Amino acid sequence: MLGQMMQGRLLISALLDHAGTYHAKTEITSVETDGSVTRSNWGEVQRNAKNLASALTKMGLKPSARCATIAWNNRRHLEIYFGVSGGQFVCHTINPRLFPEQLVYIVNHAEDEVLFIDATFLPLATALRDKMPTLKAIVLMGTRNESALEQIPELQFYDELIETGDDDYAWPDFDENTASSLCYTSGTTGNPKGVLYSHRSTMLHSFASALPDCIGFSARDIILPVVPMFHVNAWGTPYAAAMVGAQLVMPGPGLDGSSLLKLIDREKVNVALGVPTIWQGLLMAAKDAGSTLDSLKRTVVGGSACPPVMIDTFRDVYNVDLVHAWGMTEMSPLGTSNQPLAKHGALPLEAQRKLRENQGRPPFGMQLKIVDEDGNDLPHDGAAQGDLLVRGPWVLTGYFRPEKPEALRDGWFDTGDVARIDPDGYMTICDRSKDIIKSGGEWISSVELENIAAAHPDLLEAAVIGAAHPKWDERPVLVAVKAEGRDPDPADLIAFFEGKIASWQKPDAVVFTNSLPRNATGKVLKRNLREEFGQVLM
Ligand code: AMP
Repeated sequence: MLGQMMQGRLLISALLDHAGTYHAKTEITSVETDGSVTRSNWGEVQRNAKNLASALTKMGLKPSARCATIAWNNRRHLEIYFGVSGGQFVCHTINPRLFPEQLVYIVNHAEDEVLFIDATFLPLATALRDKMPTLKAIVLMGTRNESALEQIPELQFYDELIETGDDDYAWPDFDENTASSLCYTSGTTGNPKGVLYSHRSTMLHSFASALPDCIGFSARDIILPVVPMFHVNAWGTPYAAAMVGAQLVMPGPGLDGSSLLKLIDREKVNVALGVPTIWQGLLMAAKDAGSTLDSLKRTVVGGSACPPVMIDTFRDVYNVDLVHAWGMTEMSPLGTSNQPLAKHGALPLEAQRKLRENQGRPPFGMQLKIVDEDGNDLPHDGAAQGDLLVRGPWVLTGYFRPEKPEALRDGWFDTGDVARIDPDGYMTICDRSKDIIKSGGEWISSVELENIAAAHPDLLEAAVIGAAHPKWDERPVLVAVKAEGRDPDPADLIAFFEGKIASWQKPDAVVFTNSLPRNATGKVLKRNLREEFGQVLM
């Protein structure tokens, strides 16, 4: 017997219609590419997104046509998210920091038909457009610009394009499993791989992330997604914000600490999301400017391990609760987030703090497990560590048009991370499986060592790699970047680990470098560091 309930389809257009209807006047603040600030609202985003969907349909695009963006976080990008997906096309966000060859590969692999660009990326599009034969239109996200036309004669302009849309356009209705957006992972080896999200997966991910014990979004929030819209859909923030009708502050291109600080203070942002390096910049700027970050109540930090010292600084100096979260492009991205349980309130303060350091627990819908080398399940006892596998309705089943099919493991996706899980489901990322240090048959977590090094006042940043060792196979080596005006002694740096970790896990050596190499999403390229420093102990 079936239940007798209605079948509202889980479509992205419905998210925007909700925000446009019940939160029409809720403000969307946007820093534009030229640095100016514009103020729009969900009602206007809804109108423009519909016009865009209508214009793209009139352009002759067929359902599921891919429309790419190379753009900052701004209001037009937000409209494109909803207009493209809502119109039954696929919104393909591209990371502009990719090497040009990778970018060309991605556009051709996806067979993008339309490319939306911010003015910043006009030179990039001009240089590469001959290599992207599937493109039918390149659209500058702004008003008419004659000098841009000199570079790309066929260029179209977003503000003119949406004018061609019909006012009475109605969103199409279709299967909620239809593809909605596409994002390529920034793998460090081989070609980037595409992850194709659906309307349904996006909607369920939004519900989960908005839950109070996950990220927790509400209509009372003023949210600053610093995480780029080309990094796993800004962790789904635009969709979740529409779902709850939150105010959004889109930061545009200025992601340095002092620009963010001004924006947070001026717009009274209370929730901000981004990777650890972004917050390092903000904390430095706030200290220099003597700001107390009054409006900010919560930061959500993920993408790389968040050093505990950052959690402490936010809480102790600025009274900001830092929510440590973990996920992957393949998981839309949210897998876990760290929020306390009721029983933790009774613990001593130090124990409560310690519990907030790991990557947290899965929301409903996400399942985690760890397995040993033979694929046997390992206990969730907080001690055993193994390969982390996940499943859930916003985890991919396979990559988009894969070069070689990569199967799930019995219906689970292998994250490539090594983790521990405690009996309450709190998960600790120990490492990427290829970065974990194997010393004489024992494993050492480079993340744990990096978290300790991050608290050293003489260091700006640090990474730990496994360097080849004649006796132990591998031993940890600290690759450190000195803080400005500091000159730490290597022996003192190694001594800094004493008492914080088992003594056999301390790094064997320290090497200094000027900056850490990072990939397009800001992750440290350990492989490059191993190539450079992997033999220093031999
Ligand atoms: P991406 O798909 O580019 O977002 O990268 C996903 C990978 O980033 C994960 O598999 C982890 O290795 C790493 N990662 C993401 N969040 C965290 C975190 N909070 N702590 C440690 N590693 C993380």
